[in-house]
Amino acid sequence: MSNVENTLSIIKPDAVERNLDSQIKEMFIKNGFDIIKEKKIQIDKIEAEKFYKVHETKPFYNDLCTYLSSGPIVVMVLEKENAILANRELMGSTNPKDAKEGTIRKKFGLSIDKNSVHGSDSLENAKIEIDFFFKS
Ligand code: ADP
Ligand code: MG
Repeated sequence: MSNVENTLSIIKPDAVERNLDSQIKEMFIKNGFDIIKEKKIQIDKIEAEKFYKVHETKPFYNDLCTYLSSGPIVVMVLEKENAILANRELMGSTNPKDAKEGTIRKKFGLSIDKNSVHGSDSLENAKIEIDFFFKS
């Protein structure tokens, strides 16, 4: 049975700044994802705090929100069979040092905080995150 899902992907400021967005989008397409929605925006810190609210108790929360709002980002809705897990696999581990060969974070990530991409981690969060950026 097919299980086509949508997931939210963000190309983070460190990658947009290095003009890596086309290369990263190419990796999604090569791996069978359809980019069904896409926009390049910059969010402010308040919006970043709202987006990353699940992490509000973490020691890195403030820096993370400052960082995500520090420059342009590309937000996309990706579609594919089991897209949520498939995107997590293609992204690789949070810390690029631990990410496997062939993953986006291994290829482009600079550090645990500047790790080039975000991807939803569950069906529930994918819906919330897609609405956050694309609800009309
Ligand atoms: P992921 O993005 O892989 O889902 P998390 O949801 O755990 O990872 O964390 C969200 C983001 O917060 C990470 O992508 C990374 O940018 C940042 N982050 C996570 N852990 C740390 C850490 N220990 N120090 C600094 N930043 C971190
Ligand atoms: Mg996460």
